[in-house]
Amino acid sequence: MIDPRDVVAAKRDGRTLQADELRSFVLAYARGGVPDYLAAAFLMAAFINGLDAAETLALTRAMVDSGETLPLEGISRPKVDKHSTGGVADGVTLVFAPIAASLGLAVAKLSGRGLGHTGGTLDKLESIPGLRTDLDPATFERQVEEVGSAVAAQTADLVPADGALYALRDATATVPSVPLIAASVMSKKLAIGTDLVLLDVKAGSGAFMKTPDDAAELAEACTALARDWGRPTRAAVTDMSQPLGEAIGNAIDVVEAVRLLRGELHGRLRDAAVMFAGEALSRLSDVPMGEGRARAAAALDSGEALEAFRAMVQGQGGDPRVVDDPEGVLPAAPVVRSFAAERAGTLAAVDAEALGRASGELGAGRKKKGDPIDPAVGILFLPKVGDRLEAGQELGQLHARSVADAEACITRSSRSGWAIPPRSAGAGSP
Ligand code: URA
Repeated sequence: MIDPRDVVAAKRDGRTLQADELRSFVLAYARGGVPDYLAAAFLMAAFINGLDAAETLALTRAMVDSGETLPLEGISRPKVDKHSTGGVADGVTLVFAPIAASLGLAVAKLSGRGLGHTGGTLDKLESIPGLRTDLDPATFERQVEEVGSAVAAQTADLVPADGALYALRDATATVPSVPLIAASVMSKKLAIGTDLVLLDVKAGSGAFMKTPDDAAELAEACTALARDWGRPTRAAVTDMSQPLGEAIGNAIDVVEAVRLLRGELHGRLRDAAVMFAGEALSRLSDVPMGEGRARAAAALDSGEALEAFRAMVQGQGGDPRVVDDPEGVLPAAPVVRSFAAERAGTLAAVDAEALGRASGELGAGRKKKGDPIDPAVGILFLPKVGDRLEAGQELGQLHARSVADAEACITRSSRSGWAIPPRSAGAGSP
């Protein structure tokens, strides 16, 4: 076996690693044969010195091969997967998956937990009482066939190396690296045999890639991996210069998703879900793009997507009443505090990363590997860039575990220069 310390030293010194070196390191780490401290050193060396295209491909292959692959050959519907590279208030999957399922597609998706300042679909879904994301391969496949969608975690069976490295990157400041994100995203996509992968590559203050150019580089790295694999993949660079939806947390994101699925909410999050579902339908069934989008929007308005969400939640053991009474079923924070605009003006910009971090500090994200999250807490942030605001107008709400947590969030936000006004107006307690 290759000594893992030699692999770390080689990357530390800026050497290009051979495929067998990367493979040996990654497989050993996934099996518990490399300690976290060595893997963290490797990640930082790769973060700083980079991985070229061949190394990124070798890393991705090793991550896929760390577990089983699921060809999904028995699935009768056209199969699609969609993945975001990470954003704030980015609940697209919660809406996309049921729309696509209601349109006759099969959504088979391995997802991620919160990473850095960004939210994770798994954490959001797991805020639904009873819902499980650690599906074994047979259960995952059965649900995709019977229900039309399943969103599951990396497990000991499926891409375990990504599960372990993902959690370690979250805790070691090694997330925003093009090759590490590309390998992480694509290992989850390539392990599952779908007919089409749609990538939502985020750019802006709430994304890991802050500029459209960097996001385009990440999109190219991901699509290059897909090309090498022979997997049809489309990538769109989309705007993450402000939160996509309104909810920055976990349970509150599910409430927002249910409202979207009921056709009650419109806006950028709905538009994104409709765009991706329309694209999937049109590419997998020869429907023109415009008609694909129209049918996706109609699935929201008719309630068919909502019923597909109910079936997915129920399939994964979650309480299906969440679609009828989300506030009654989901965990709620004991303290809800409104905050309001201090003065009138037009909202010029939003530091979406700071909002994501603030939500994490309230308990919606992790500080250390394996930390539990608090599903009930988070931030609702209502306005969008360009909105005209009046003095005293409600901007949103902090959902906190305690008054002290809410106060600490407000103090930290004003210290770091993106103030939630301390003397906020509006409803809610305290
Ligand atoms: N999403 C992933 O699956 N992995 C990353 O590294 C970032 C976003």
